[in-house]
Amino acid sequence: AAKENGKASYQFFQPQLSQNLIGRLNSEQALRAAIDGDEFELHYQPRVDAASGELRSMEALVRWMHPQRGMVPPDEFIPLAEETGLIVKLGELVIEKACSQLARWKAENLPLVPVSINVSPRQFNHGNIAELFVWHMKLHGIDPSLVEIELTESCMMGDDQAISEQLAAIKSLGVKLLIDDFGTGYSSLSQLQRRDLDILKVDKAFTSTLDSGKEGEVFFMAIISMAHVLNMSVVAEGVETLEQLRVLQALSCNEVQGYFVSRPLPAGEISQLMRKRYLFPEACVALRSTPG
Ligand code: C2E
Ligand code: MG
Ligand code: MG
Ligand code: MG
Repeated sequence: AAKENGKASYQFFQPQLSQNLIGRLNSEQALRAAIDGDEFELHYQPRVDAASGELRSMEALVRWMHPQRGMVPPDEFIPLAEETGLIVKLGELVIEKACSQLARWKAENLPLVPVSINVSPRQFNHGNIAELFVWHMKLHGIDPSLVEIELTESCMMGDDQAISEQLAAIKSLGVKLLIDDFGTGYSSLSQLQRRDLDILKVDKAFTSTLDSGKEGEVFFMAIISMAHVLNMSVVAEGVETLEQLRVLQALSCNEVQGYFVSRPLPAGEISQLMRKRYLFPEACVALRSTPG
């Protein structure tokens, strides 16, 4: 009987399972080595005023510049980084790179706008993220008004005291807080208000519904009017067409971001856009209603 049991538990280790496990351990090791080897780079995607196309902020989006595979998008390594805790180190790298890039742009005398940095919930559980931001901003002489933080809805839920305190500390510095991918999670507007958020970024899934009838429009109308009552401004992400932009302008959406305006670009190309300042294509500017 003992031998039978032994045999049964031995069979638990299916070859399939251990292959997956080995694969995972390899990926984790590769990611760890890439972090130590500094194989990451930030690209930046403009966010512009919906009415005028004026540059308002740039979102830092991390890319893994893999020596063999080329540019690896974040969806292929951020989830693993979050599961393994490597996001803490990677996240600090992103903060450091964003602040040093801002310092370079400042040294080049470019008209600066804030850089918006994505932060995972897990980064709040290891050390104090407010102190981390302060450290890197001071090191590079960056004013807190030039930094924004993009949080996910999972940071908003529940009553995590540690997260609340860190967010309050960050806010008191003058850093703006933004909720990313809004509409995909389960946070309520009252939770957003309690966290004292500045900007609500509506997920691109909703922007794409603007192409198919009034339903998407009604969703945006409701979100925008509620956000404005709560003193938050609204960004639509994933704007890809002039038609989508027109609807969002009519609904008084504050800002837009998406391929219609610009794809995420390396820092060098972003410098040119910073000088240009108004980023809508010519055809769009001509149609724009004059302010006032
Ligand atoms: P996100 O923060 O919601 O970023 C928006 C994503 O949508 C980006 O993908 C961007 O390239 C893409 N996008 C922008 N405009 C359009 C558009 O018009 N159409 C379409 N179809 N897509 C558009 P990306 O760069 O691949 O990043 C994916 C996600 O990875 C981000 O989603 C964010 O959640 C995460 N991520 C990126 N960088 C970081 C980081 O430094 N830290 C953390 N924690 N997460 C990051
Ligand atoms: Mg984001
Ligand atoms: Mg988003
Ligand atoms: Mg997203």
